[in-house]
Amino acid sequence: MCGIVGYIGKNDALPVIINALKMLEYRGYDSAGVAVFDGKTIRIVKRKGKIRELEQELSSKALKGTVGIGHTRWATHGRPDDINAHPHRCGPIVLVHNGIVENYLELKEKLQRENGNSFCSETDTEVIACLISSKYRGNLVEAVLEAVKELKGSYALVVMSEKEPEKIVAYRKDSPLILGVGDGEYFVASDIPALLPYTNRVVALEDDECAVLKRDGYLLLKNGREFSKEPKVVHWSTAMADEAGYRHIMQKEIFEQPKAVADTLNAYYSAEGEFGLFEESFSQKLIEAERIRLVACGTSYYACMVSRYWFDRFSRLPVDVDIASEFRYRDLHIDKRDLCIFVSQSGETADTLAALRLCNSSGATTVGVCNVMESTIARESQAVVYTLAGPEIGVASTKAFTTQLAVLFLMAVYMGWIREHLSKDEVKSMCNPLVYIPGLMEEVLRLDGSLRDLARVYMKKEHFLYLGRYLNYPIALEGALKLKEISYIHAEGYAAGEMKHGPIALIDEQMPVVVVAPPDKVYEKIRSNIEEVKARSGIVIAFNPKFNTELEKICYHIF
Ligand code: GLU
Repeated sequence: MCGIVGYIGKNDALPVIINALKMLEYRGYDSAGVAVFDGKTIRIVKRKGKIRELEQELSSKALKGTVGIGHTRWATHGRPDDINAHPHRCGPIVLVHNGIVENYLELKEKLQRENGNSFCSETDTEVIACLISSKYRGNLVEAVLEAVKELKGSYALVVMSEKEPEKIVAYRKDSPLILGVGDGEYFVASDIPALLPYTNRVVALEDDECAVLKRDGYLLLKNGREFSKEPKVVHWSTAMADEAGYRHIMQKEIFEQPKAVADTLNAYYSAEGEFGLFEESFSQKLIEAERIRLVACGTSYYACMVSRYWFDRFSRLPVDVDIASEFRYRDLHIDKRDLCIFVSQSGETADTLAALRLCNSSGATTVGVCNVMESTIARESQAVVYTLAGPEIGVASTKAFTTQLAVLFLMAVYMGWIREHLSKDEVKSMCNPLVYIPGLMEEVLRLDGSLRDLARVYMKKEHFLYLGRYLNYPIALEGALKLKEISYIHAEGYAAGEMKHGPIALIDEQMPVVVVAPPDKVYEKIRSNIEEVKARSGIVIAFNPKFNTELEKICYHIF
């Protein structure tokens, strides 16, 4: 999913669009483009490569005007090149698109046959432009609404017409779009950070909603009828979304974890043993639940896996954890006895959203754990608990993960409390020590320098193994995921007890093995696993609290 930006207002559109697109750069993209109405025509400039290259191209072209749209593309249909880059034009229609049109070939053939359209790109997006153009009789909104009836798939569309240059039309179906309400200027973008330099008043579009942005306001349409929605204020700022002296945004986000976790814990728990997670009426549903299902993707899925141990222990209910993209295809027997928890930083994860919709329609009780306010999962869940991590811009999740753990831990203990398995004193003994977590995280972050030295030693290795047991089994999976995603080094996470069933064969003096080995109830077991690795000359890198010095004798590196 890539970046969309639209602007109409009193200022020059181009710098606004470029700046806003840069705020979305973190998503990764292969080409970028803009379209601006210059008073006579809509001029398009687009380029394969980075926004920097587009800017170079733009430096020789005076693209002046106060209405425009922009896009960063992640190619799905057609290679990444100048021609396939967005915006696309057909007749008077110019548009940008995020998503996939599943029936684009069928529509393309029909447009060729019936309208004699010829296409210059390989994209599904150009087909949408021609479809809208074929419906266009001087009313852009009507043409867009007619065209979307024929589209199958997911699409966020932002459309202009050369014949009605004083408006931008946006339409959302399974791909996010947010309006930004400024002072005499209006924005539309695929994600909130793009809007932050200009406004914090936003309106999130829902599926099948259409927005028309004009200079003097905006209107919203659904099923052909106008409706209104008050803008919401997001308490994020641009400063929260920039690098702020760190080498890169992900490093900043790693270092923000103590604060993010402290903010999240403080928001939902007080030292008196009081929780602020749910309305009382909703809590009744948690009391009545007979099974818990945790559903998520990627890092959020690992947060769910960790929390399963907590829900097992405190709620005393059967707990299932599922990868959202698999959950959808199981023969599930969900009903009102199920409490289904959906975890997603962005609140827009498509598979998680589809799973949520399935559970909502099956009568289950649904809870979203999201970081982005007003996101679709947050809105469509029956209750939402926000992680207060601030904007997470880095593609690899860091502070969202640790704040998810904080929320899920509190939820698990809360379940134990309201279901009367835990007394108030037990709740306090479980949760009050959480105040030490941010400080301890800060201490861990002080290992930065020595961990960097370690990374230099092993950066040329092609494979890593991560091992953990119990709570730290999913932590090992998450560690391996991070290494793959960020360093492009192959890494596998394993439940350490599984070593003897195969992976142990991989260990020799070339293999770094990262082990999370706190002195918990499985410590003796994990220590034996370390011995097994050592017996095969593997390089053990262990994480272990300071007071436990025993492992120093048997590990290569210990942190
Ligand atoms: N399917 C469109 C394309 O390949 C849009 C991709 C995107 O979301 O950036 O051009």
